[in-house]
Amino acid sequence: MKLIGASAVITCDDNFSVIKDGGILFDENKIIKIGKFNELKKMQYIDVRFYESCVITPSLINTHIHFEFSQNTSSLNYGNFGEWLDSVILKRESLMKDSSDAIKTALKETLSCGVGSVGAISSNGLDLEILNQSPLKVLFFNEIIGTNKEYNEKIMNDFNERLEKSLLLTSPNFKSGIALHSPYSLNFELASYAIKKAMEHKLLVSTHFLESKEELMWLEYKKGYFKKFFKRFFNDENALPYYSKESFLRLFKNCESLFVHCLFLNNDDWATISKLNVDIVSCPRSNRLLNNRYFDFLKAKDYRLPLIIATDGKSSNNNLNILDEARVALFAYEQFNINNLAKEILLSITRRPAKRLRFNNGFLEKGRASDFAIFYIKDIENCSQVILNFLLHAKKVEDLYINGKRIDIENY
Ligand SMILES: [Zn+2]
Repeated sequence: MKLIGASAVITCDDNFSVIKDGGILFDENKIIKIGKFNELKKMQYIDVRFYESCVITPSLINTHIHFEFSQNTSSLNYGNFGEWLDSVILKRESLMKDSSDAIKTALKETLSCGVGSVGAISSNGLDLEILNQSPLKVLFFNEIIGTNKEYNEKIMNDFNERLEKSLLLTSPNFKSGIALHSPYSLNFELASYAIKKAMEHKLLVSTHFLESKEELMWLEYKKGYFKKFFKRFFNDENALPYYSKESFLRLFKNCESLFVHCLFLNNDDWATISKLNVDIVSCPRSNRLLNNRYFDFLKAKDYRLPLIIATDGKSSNNNLNILDEARVALFAYEQFNINNLAKEILLSITRRPAKRLRFNNGFLEKGRASDFAIFYIKDIENCSQVILNFLLHAKKVEDLYINGKRIDIENY
């Protein structure tokens, strides 16, 4: 058993308790007790540490990352979704080539900002072994993408091979999921096949949905950017969308899913999505860079859809620091009371995604996994707005524990 304490313990429990001079007693499996550090210290433990001027939070969760694109720094075009997608198509191969070192660096960056669990979208399986061998808890989403029916069989075989490989690695720290890339990039047979696999293995599904107005124009009016896209890249003059919005959403009616982005929903879409077993994941910086807009968080509240925040990949972000992402959200949503918003945002990178990823973490409570992040925040012991100040100032973890073990991030 170990005991750690800090100036403030942010539990993210039902009451959002913040314990000043708090402590956590834990072993490798789970949290045994939480309370005041001095009370817990009364018994004699071998391993005791108090972190002065620090905050302990549940280890953070980044629910949507494309690690395979970690080589991108400045190769892609931002400011317009179509320009960005064109640049992805043109640079995709070179960005994916020899990406192992960049993926490892991205993993270190992820751990360094206090993330202990991730939802990783994998297009080719290039990140499978690296992620499986990392200290992170991983929900590994095998992605399916493809438009030309001629290649359906090959795509299904390749997808199935990747899926089977990842399923073999299933462990308490590693689970498989399925990602349907998006309605514009996936024909109906491939989507149905992937959904069938998800049902068969009871896997969480992820999809990008209505990320751009170009996608909306395509699904609703069958025109705009994507008409030219299919002509330019697939030599298809007569391309038509594979779905209406409704028929795409129907695919998910019996699944548990994460819908990523959802920037261009109308009231009917909101109503339909709110009836599915779905959470929406928002990636504010990616949305700002590609689509000049932020997710309608207020509307999501009306439909009781809880917000989850993630970074997306380096293909549409300047880094994978979930705390930088949280800060962007904190400043972007000016209509909310800042202290209440800080709580919402912290939940969106801890407790809420934990409910979907199911690693028994995301909040600090007896019986939960011993996954915590510790951050130094100057003068936090005298602070009356701990959560807001944590989000304003935390950048790099002091220490990160996953399954009760301190992770040696520098030497990982
Ligand atoms: Zn994405």
